[in-house]
Amino acid sequence: MIIPIPDGYFTVVTYILSAILGLCVGSFLNVVIYRVPNKMNLAKPASHCPQCGYKLRFYDNIPIISYCILGGRCRSCKKHIPFRYTAVEAANMLLWIACVWRFSDNLIYMLAAMLACSLMLCVASVDLEHKIIPDRFQIALLIPAIAAIFTDANTVWYDHLIGGGAAFAVFLLLALIAGKLLGREALGGGDIKLVGVLGLLLGWQKLLIMMIIASVSGSIVMLILKKRSKDDESPETPFAPFLSAGAIISLLFGDALIKLYLRLLLG
Ligand SMILES: [Zn+2]
Repeated sequence: MIIPIPDGYFTVVTYILSAILGLCVGSFLNVVIYRVPNKMNLAKPASHCPQCGYKLRFYDNIPIISYCILGGRCRSCKKHIPFRYTAVEAANMLLWIACVWRFSDNLIYMLAAMLACSLMLCVASVDLEHKIIPDRFQIALLIPAIAAIFTDANTVWYDHLIGGGAAFAVFLLLALIAGKLLGREALGGGDIKLVGVLGLLLGWQKLLIMMIIASVSGSIVMLILKKRSKDDESPETPFAPFLSAGAIISLLFGDALIKLYLRLLLG
């Protein structure tokens, strides 16, 4: 007897697997986010509570579920575990599901997009917390960027080279001009390297969309923060979270947005 496989079975299994894997990798991203800026080894020591040193057992380390069971507190010292850990796990899961949804017909590009999304999640979190972007992240982003050059179905390879080159050159120039005008560093070297590699990843068309999203959202948030801060000194706002958000949205939906724009433009 042959048991028939219902329609859509493999699709459902693929989504469930990518959700579970996305959660587990999200849990590892928390290790990366904590250890890379502190120049710690990624493999050793084993995961532990930063407050009391309690070594996490495997059942303390199940993404999202452990956090809920423990009520967001360390099993040993009962100190609060930052909600960021669960947020990163959930965000990585959702991003991986979105990558499968958008790119399942283009396997290598899909894997590159998953890796890129996870790395950008790290970049945004690390810059938010430490106001630095360690070079390791831009170097790691080169892997999905190079894969995208050859597998992006909607662009040709030189669109990506133009994107990378133009982004790097324009941001370097902006940093030099702004630095001269303001007399202080306005754009960090990490940001310049990041937009360069994101241009390489996205190609110049989707890079433009990324820049629009990043600059509009960044300006709105900076204005709100400036209104809230009491002293005249404008608060130092890290830019990488906006670049990362723009890049993720553009990576996932840039092609659809460009098509929509062209349809509206050409009627
Ligand atoms: Zn503890």
